[in-house]
Amino acid sequence: MYRTHTCGELRITDINTEITLTGWIQTIRKFGSITFIDLRDRYGITQLLFNEKLTQSLDKNPLGREFVLQVKGKVSERSNKNKNISTGDIEILVSEFKVLNSSAIPPFTIQDDTDGGDDLRMKYRFLDLRRNAIKKNIELRYAVSRAARNYLHQNNFIDIETPFLIKSTPEGARDFVVPSRMNAGEFYALPQSPQTFKQLLMVSGYDRYYQIVKCFRDEDLRADRQPEFTQIDCEMAFVEQEDILQMFEGMIKYIFKEVKNFEYASPLERMTWLDALRNYGNDKPDTRFEMKLANLKSPLQTSPDRGGLLSPGFKVFDEAESVLAISVSGCSDYSRKQTDELTEWVKRPQIGMKGLAFIKHNTDGTLKSSFDKFFNEEQLKQFSAFCDSKPGDLILILAGKEERTRKAISELRLYMADRLGFRKPDEFKLLWITDFPLFEYDEENNRWVARHHPFTSPKPEDIEVMINNDPAIENAEKYLEHPYAKIKANAYDMVLNGNEIGGGSIRIYQRELQEKMFAALGMSKEEAQHKFGFLLGAFEYGAPPHGGIAFGFDRLCAILGGSESIRDFIAFPKNNSGRDVMIDAPSTIDEKQLEELRIKLNLK
Ligand code: ASP
Repeated sequence: MYRTHTCGELRITDINTEITLTGWIQTIRKFGSITFIDLRDRYGITQLLFNEKLTQSLDKNPLGREFVLQVKGKVSERSNKNKNISTGDIEILVSEFKVLNSSAIPPFTIQDDTDGGDDLRMKYRFLDLRRNAIKKNIELRYAVSRAARNYLHQNNFIDIETPFLIKSTPEGARDFVVPSRMNAGEFYALPQSPQTFKQLLMVSGYDRYYQIVKCFRDEDLRADRQPEFTQIDCEMAFVEQEDILQMFEGMIKYIFKEVKNFEYASPLERMTWLDALRNYGNDKPDTRFEMKLANLKSPLQTSPDRGGLLSPGFKVFDEAESVLAISVSGCSDYSRKQTDELTEWVKRPQIGMKGLAFIKHNTDGTLKSSFDKFFNEEQLKQFSAFCDSKPGDLILILAGKEERTRKAISELRLYMADRLGFRKPDEFKLLWITDFPLFEYDEENNRWVARHHPFTSPKPEDIEVMINNDPAIENAEKYLEHPYAKIKANAYDMVLNGNEIGGGSIRIYQRELQEKMFAALGMSKEEAQHKFGFLLGAFEYGAPPHGGIAFGFDRLCAILGGSESIRDFIAFPKNNSGRDVMIDAPSTIDEKQLEELRIKLNLK
């Protein structure tokens, strides 16, 4: 037997027990004629005491960090107890030891606070994974997957694998393709999600399916995306939107309870897509704090036109399509330097605004704005009342094109919340967003695109609108007036702390409607048949009404772990250029492999 216990197991109640431990050497401290060694394994750290004689033997054959050691000895009470670790009351009086393997000097320290930079840690990921900080993330990931599986199992879902080598039907992201040797000149694609397969399983009668599954999207990697990522992918037959919302509200609460021991007691808040946009500027609002937008002027406005608040003569507001504001509490005393800093922040290319206007609602009740020339006191008062500002608030105002301004103010809202510590990692706010538009308009290609995916059903009351109207857009500028722009989808997203963690829809299940959908997206009959003939065909053999959802598993784990980065929750992640720097992938392949595939490279 290599070991009788693990390095996290022994306690004061084990005193005088003869034990054998194995593990990695974390630290070696020589203390006069004796030596202390911290031995680490997955379960913890145990202090070893090497007596004078053993210490002498170390002089001849020194041990080093990360050596793999087996020790035999007796558990003894420690005089100098360490409250920070579970084995801190004891140490092992070592009687004999054996080096099971030596180790090269590790390129960074394998401790919670490592001195290794990101690149180095990625290259030696197998060592990084030994660190407690990463290990607890990997354990949390397993806990989340276990909880999801338990819940889904209890609710009659079955886990069914779907293929990875499928047909390329790019829609949304780019496909990763895999050449087929046996069918020269032909290619498989890796699935962006098992979407069509899970729908086919509904046609097959497996009315509750799930899979914790890898998905592949060849996207330009924005920060914190991975080309391969994991989804908790689910589908149900004979359901309406409400059934899905309740089932998966149950799942997320179960996961919170199991993983965080946290009762998310209240029902998940529900918000329409339009309300989310109006009040928070985006469709995945962080509702851990309020700071709602004031729509001073906007095409999305519900309340009466607020143009009256905007003094004629101040071009910045007069000429803007949208003027949006937030009131930030406790910032009315911002100095010139601080407001200049904020102005620079909104002018960065990522945010792309021309400038920032502001009103200080001073603690004595007076108002002072960056555009005093154009507004009298009465107007500022109206402005402040409309923005619902309180003494001590700083009202920040952005003006410009609707989409950009809305995006910018929603970023600014998060930025200010970060500065003020409103986004606490241990506080959780879940909500459902519903009533998305079915279509988005792609200005570049002058066509409609599916906002979720082409299998999403319109709301029942909008089906007629879709069937009875021609998708063609005559005046691209006025696409919002086209009946298609108003069609709502039977789709929903789950949002957690400002992140979309899940999304799904009720699906189309009749061939005619699905064909109409493909046509609306600008696909010819032949193209639809070539790409999705299998699904259209299946719909002719008794497809049941169905719908589903998929959760971004990596992101969910990261948020539950209180982290911004999904990478730390994936055992072997890729870097920002999509490379695995540890195994050095992607890499070139042999001439012979290329020949077998009958592929000629054309690298220019
Ligand atoms: N397959 C969809 C996605 O990956 C989720 C769903 O509709 O179930 O976004």
